[in-house]
Amino acid sequence: MTKDSYEDAIAGLSKLLSEKADLEGVAAAKIREITAELASAGSSDPVQRIKTGFIQFKKEKFEKDVDLYNKLATGQSPKFMVFACSDSRVCPSHILNFQPGEAFVVRNIANMVPPFDLTKYSGVGAAIEYAVLHLKVENILVIGHSCCGGIKGLMSIPDDGSTASDFIESWVKICAPAKTKIKAACSGLSFTEQCTNLEKESVNVSLANLLTYPFVREALVNKTLSLKGGYYDFVKGSFQLWDLDFKITPNLTV
Ligand SMILES: [Zn+2]
Repeated sequence: MTKDSYEDAIAGLSKLLSEKADLEGVAAAKIREITAELASAGSSDPVQRIKTGFIQFKKEKFEKDVDLYNKLATGQSPKFMVFACSDSRVCPSHILNFQPGEAFVVRNIANMVPPFDLTKYSGVGAAIEYAVLHLKVENILVIGHSCCGGIKGLMSIPDDGSTASDFIESWVKICAPAKTKIKAACSGLSFTEQCTNLEKESVNVSLANLLTYPFVREALVNKTLSLKGGYYDFVKGSFQLWDLDFKITPNLTV
């Protein structure tokens, strides 16, 4: 619901309340309750937003799918590990409809998988180790996306490699090999087109970086794990999927 529609609904209910002063007490109380809910849902107060969001989740999902949440209370066995960008528009649970328990998710700037490094990237390493060795996920999916600010940032780093940020540029340089490739292969394209190509090619660098983790290699050799690249275009509303060997499935445009 947009802000306007909340306001319209609140205005409509308030009008009804004032016109029907003789409404039965219960009905009037119910309308007041709904009015208050609608008002808080449209509120910019962060505490109210969090409370309303959780109440809605609990009523509509947690209390309705008792079997699922009882099962999840005893443990998780997701089939997917997913790398997605922190961008607020690309939540994998929304765009791929993953339900609770289905996907073990790491989100970071530009959905990058760094190479194996015990100190520099221990946070990501711990997540991959846990997903592969303990959860025994069957797929690792890295999802790039359209209009990615992190990829634009990588593309914008000057050729001398100088950086102006504390963390962002040194993080996105993980996919510098993809930038070198795109700049050579797509020199005739516009900056925006080069960024689009880099959004996809950087996923391939991440897939290659996954191979630097010994437990990932071992699971691939044992055929208990597969690596997949994906690309979500939120301008066109399409999703592209490919394997580690770059076998591309038809573009999913629904
Ligand atoms: Zn992004």
